[in-house]
Amino acid sequence: MTDHPDPNKASTSAQNDEPSLARANREQHDPQIEAVLQQYSPSGLRRRRRSRMLRWAAATSLLGLVTTAKRLLDLLISASLLALFTPVLLIITLGLGGPAKALFRSPRLGRFGIPFKRLSFRTPENGALRKLGLHHLPVLINLLRGDMSLIGPRAADPSEYSPRERKARRRYNVRPGLVGPWWIRRRANIDFGSELDADAEYVAQQSLSGDLGLAFRAIPALLYGQGLASASDEIRILGIDIDNLTMDEAIETMLAVVDQDRPQQLCFVNADCFNIAARNDVYRQCLKDAQWVFADGIGVKLAGKILNRDIKQNVNGTDLFPRLCDAMQGTDKSLYLLGARPGIAQAVAEWVAEHYPDCRIAGHHHGYLKDDSEEQAVLADIRESGADMLMVAFGAPRQDLWVAEHLQDSGVKLAMGVGGLFDFYSGRIARAPQWMREMALEWLFRFLQEPRRMWRRYFVGNFVFLIHIYRERFFGAPK
Ligand code: UDP
Repeated sequence: MTDHPDPNKASTSAQNDEPSLARANREQHDPQIEAVLQQYSPSGLRRRRRSRMLRWAAATSLLGLVTTAKRLLDLLISASLLALFTPVLLIITLGLGGPAKALFRSPRLGRFGIPFKRLSFRTPENGALRKLGLHHLPVLINLLRGDMSLIGPRAADPSEYSPRERKARRRYNVRPGLVGPWWIRRRANIDFGSELDADAEYVAQQSLSGDLGLAFRAIPALLYGQGLASASDEIRILGIDIDNLTMDEAIETMLAVVDQDRPQQLCFVNADCFNIAARNDVYRQCLKDAQWVFADGIGVKLAGKILNRDIKQNVNGTDLFPRLCDAMQGTDKSLYLLGARPGIAQAVAEWVAEHYPDCRIAGHHHGYLKDDSEEQAVLADIRESGADMLMVAFGAPRQDLWVAEHLQDSGVKLAMGVGGLFDFYSGRIARAPQWMREMALEWLFRFLQEPRRMWRRYFVGNFVFLIHIYRERFFGAPK
């Protein structure tokens, strides 16, 4: 008899040959075997089955309760809104030539994959009704009928996600919603990853308080508008050319760049960077000369909206970093981390080793370089490490000017300034929780952490940035 029996084998043999095993166990007094026999004995199996059923019953009744409470809320809210908007609905319906002509029915899949028609008014693309969002009013009827809920995954077209697909099945366990987690992330420009994963996460964690939080987060999201995946790939804001990419495209681009011969510079620009560039010609030129410039933060997204140049996604270094590490896994590419206080870059390297063990960190060094000779020593270290990419966390504009000056000497193929990124991943500074990021309030969280340093950047800086943007909107771009 072996010391560590296979539990499955033990299960069968325990049922067929229990006396001889029990005898052998009595002879050996091995507590491990005793535990396994106990677990797989007929009474142990019965106990396990009973507790599994109890857990299932508890989960099902909790889900049932949440579903019923949600349905009651949907009924209450849709009935009240319909009562309130009945005159408007009637006037629009009659104005558009009666219900048959006025109503547009788009096929959608509901709970359990059951098809339904989502109602809206058939209005011209640029008409006033559409601009005011009134064309969505008939969806209240879907809400009242129970086709949809206020909160839930987006009502998908039947051609999008088949309920037969394993990954899509979970989203159809609940009613589709007017507002959902993916809807909010799209509007906050942080719709990284996939909609199906976001939906599955929502369904798994569904609760009334979670739904209330989503409803609350939907209010600012309404103001931010929709991120457009069809926006132009290159746009200019305040004289700076921005590579308007999604997060996935940005990572793909970065991995492609390191395969090229010419070393290239990448800059992440947020509202504060634009403000610095407005008063610092050298930095401004640096941004103009950089081969890649990515739009970072909700400020740039709002600027794009004001200027009618939609920003596809918020491609900030902090969200990009783990995704880049993941994409680098299993490749022969490596990364050098330079910057932040002593010990911080090393802690980030350890974080990467723990979370992305196959991503190579070629080296790291803190960012408080005393003099020219230490700087030269660090440059030599970067060269000797053979790193393909270099991240420099000195804060803007210093990091980007440093990269521009030392790119050729460093021997890397792609170098970029990443601001406070290392402080986040080392755990020195906490990052804003997801709900704040979804409300585009990460700046507020940063301000609360370091009010003395950040008040000017956010309260004065964001205001100044908006003035620059409105000046460009009404009087044209600066030279
Ligand atoms: N830093 C550095 N060397 C310096 C000054 C600053 O490495 O001489 C680091 C600092 O420790 C911090 C980062 O640069 O980790 C700047 O972070 P900040 O949040 O100011 O950057 P931002 O994202 O605002 O550009």
